[in-house]
Amino acid sequence: MAAPTFEKLSPVKHGTRVTVDANGRWNIPDDPIVCLIRGDGIGRDVGTTPGITTCAIRVLNAAVERAYKGKRRIHWFDIHAGDVARELYYPEVRDEQVNSLREEEQRQLYLPDDSLKAFEYYRLGLKGPLTTPIGGGFRSINVFLRMRFDLYACVRPVRYFKGVDAPNKRADKVNMVIFRENTEDVYCGIEFKSGSENAKRLHSFLKELGYNIAPSSGIGIKPISPEGTKRLVRMAIRYALDKKLPSVTLMHKGNIMKFTEGSFKDWGYELAKQEFRDQIVTEDELTKGADGKGKLLIKDRIADSMFQQIQLRPDEYSVVATPNLNGDYLSDAAAALTGGIGLAAGANIGDQAAMFEATHGTAPKYLGKNMANPGAVLLSGALLLEHLGWDEAAQRVNQGLEATFAESEEIAHRGPGGTLHVTYDIARQFAGYGAEGGSTSSDFADRIIFHLNRL
Ligand code: NAP
Repeated sequence: MAAPTFEKLSPVKHGTRVTVDANGRWNIPDDPIVCLIRGDGIGRDVGTTPGITTCAIRVLNAAVERAYKGKRRIHWFDIHAGDVARELYYPEVRDEQVNSLREEEQRQLYLPDDSLKAFEYYRLGLKGPLTTPIGGGFRSINVFLRMRFDLYACVRPVRYFKGVDAPNKRADKVNMVIFRENTEDVYCGIEFKSGSENAKRLHSFLKELGYNIAPSSGIGIKPISPEGTKRLVRMAIRYALDKKLPSVTLMHKGNIMKFTEGSFKDWGYELAKQEFRDQIVTEDELTKGADGKGKLLIKDRIADSMFQQIQLRPDEYSVVATPNLNGDYLSDAAAALTGGIGLAAGANIGDQAAMFEATHGTAPKYLGKNMANPGAVLLSGALLLEHLGWDEAAQRVNQGLEATFAESEEIAHRGPGGTLHVTYDIARQFAGYGAEGGSTSSDFADRIIFHLNRL
């Protein structure tokens, strides 16, 4: 594939492109080029005031430098999306004109061809938050990227950091990675409005099959396929084996929805036994006396029970693989257990490309104030480091963050008047401090760097 030419981006001068070989293996050079979308709102820099993405990048670079002493380095390639892209590429288009543009024209406004070409070619990206596009046609940059590049797994790590106010008293035991299927399920958008012609046609068809639903029903379709299930479960199992984690749990509602969620569970087990037989043991096999020593445990849980389990015995779950809608609910519920939205990291990963991103929005009221928490972008960056196989650097990021939180908690517990090195959203949990006791995003980043260099 020839290197693309760009309308407004200057080609990258240094670094090497990441590739994927015919067997689906990622080839990662020591100097990979990674696309960077700094984002809107708190994601963007304003003059010399850094946004959260810039703060996070400084920490990521420091962690890589510390871990590999110059042998490895990421070359960030700035590309644009969201409001920032619109201002750069189409400054003349006014808000009131957007609705009259075709969907594809609206897409170019918020996700220019330059950015698409760059991501297609370089395959990896880190993204700050983006303003949801105005206008009815092109609704979501995230959904577009997911569909266009078949980013079929939404990966959300959820863990507790000491020093972060968490509502659940067992929060310190939460440390799991959720793999949510991204392309199927009732979530994939095949819906028919109540009273519409298509809903009526479906209603008659269902009647022919012997099902009587209220004729006024809106109808949603829930496709779940063996291919879609297996590629997701395969990714989750590979991740667990690679990181030497104890278990993968298939979460489903198969007791009721037997041919969709129930099949998800069955296909998940089938894949595990077909492709990873020597490395896994199922819960059922263990009950029947199999020796599971040194093997990855594959188990399943019904969705409603899983919501109880993550609150009561979270330490029994390390990797969860689940269909789209369950995964959406579970990811947010698990993140809430451990505290701040400023720490909710994520990634959309496919076989040919992957985009790592914070899950929170642009928090526009904090634009240019250097006060938002860069943690979620940073932890998304740590996931990117893991994807590169640079686990030592990812660990440094996590340890630096842990040490910074723990230190601020200790200072706050000594009483008011100390200097905290965490942002307002974390500082406000401490008595005698409040949000005004928080430091800037850049000071927070500096402190993480200080700690990761010390450890
Ligand atoms: P939001 O931007 O996530 O902000 C809601 C609140 O969450 C903020 O006011 C702040 O709460 C807290 N918050 C979010 N990020 C934070 C951070 N890094 N540090 C500290 N606090 C943080 O949600 P929104 O206001 O509903 O959405 C704003 C825009 O973002 C919309 O255009 C929305 O569509 C878009 N959005 C984008 C994404 C994405 O790109 N992935 C995701 C969601 C929303 P307090 O003020 O209470 O501290």
